[in-house]
Amino acid sequence: MTFHVLTIFPDFFRGPLDHGVVARALKAGLFEVRIHNLRDFAHDRHRTVDDRPFGGGEGMVLKPEPIFEAVETIWPERHAGRRVILLSAQGRLFNQHLARQLASYDELLLICGRYEGVDERVAEHLADDEISIGDYVLSGGELAAAVVIDVVARLLPGVVGNEASVRSESFSTNGDGPPILDCPQYTRPAEFRGWRVPEVLLSGNHAEIRRWRQRAAWEKTMRLRPDLIERFGARLPDPRTETEGKVSAKLGRN
Ligand code: SAM
Repeated sequence: MTFHVLTIFPDFFRGPLDHGVVARALKAGLFEVRIHNLRDFAHDRHRTVDDRPFGGGEGMVLKPEPIFEAVETIWPERHAGRRVILLSAQGRLFNQHLARQLASYDELLLICGRYEGVDERVAEHLADDEISIGDYVLSGGELAAAVVIDVVARLLPGVVGNEASVRSESFSTNGDGPPILDCPQYTRPAEFRGWRVPEVLLSGNHAEIRRWRQRAAWEKTMRLRPDLIERFGARLPDPRTETEGKVSAKLGRN
C-alpha cells in the first residue's frame, strides 16, 4: 500500500514514522509513504496556500486551487483502489473498524489541514471521505495523518511480526462478537512492590490461562468501555457463570 500525504509541513513526518514496527516495515518496503509539499502546487512568488475567510472571521483558510492541483497531479486518474481523505475535526470518527476498511485500498491520499481549516469545496468535490481522529481540535492534520498511517499500516500483511496478535488485540472482533478490549498483560518480575501477577498466569495451565484472559478482557471492557458492548447491541454472556466454550464463541474468540 502507498500512503500519500499532502501537507505544508513535510518535515513533520521525519519523527513519527521512524520508530518500531512501522519504521522496520517501511524499510522492508512492505508499504510506502510519499510526502508532498502543498506549497509546490502554489504558483505565486510567495507560494501562497491560504487566504482570509469569506464573510470575515478569525484566521486563514487553505485555498482550494493548490489542493485540487496537487491531488490531480499525484493521481491524474482516480479508481476504486484509491481514496482521498481529508483530515478534519468535523469528519466521521476514525476507529479500528474504519482502519480495517482503509487497509483494503491500494493507495490513500491524506490531506492535512491547517489554520482555520480547508475550503469546504475540497470536502464537497475532491475528498472521498472526511475523517476525524477524535472529538477535539488539533492544530493541524499532520498528527492525525500519522495516526491513520500507523493504525492502518500495522494491519497490512507482514508489518506486525506476529499477525495473531493483531487479530486478538483491542477492538478486534475476531468473529461475530463485540469489539472488546485486550486482556491485561504482565511480565517479570512476578512480584513488584508487593503486587503479584495473577497466580493463574504462572501456572502453565493453558486452558485456565485462556479462560482467565477471556474473563479479564470482558471485565476490563465492562469497566472502562461499556459503550463498545452497548453499541454492539448484544446481550453479553457473563464469563463468570458461563462455560468456556460458550463464552469464547459469544466473544468471538478462539
Ligand atoms: N476550524 C476547524 C474546526 O473548528 O473544525 C479546526 C481547524 S484545525 C485548527 C486545523 C486542521 O487540523 C484541520 O483542517 C484538520 O486538518 C486538522 N484537525 C484538527 N482536529 C482534527 C481531528 N480531530 N481529526 C483530524 N484532523 C484534525
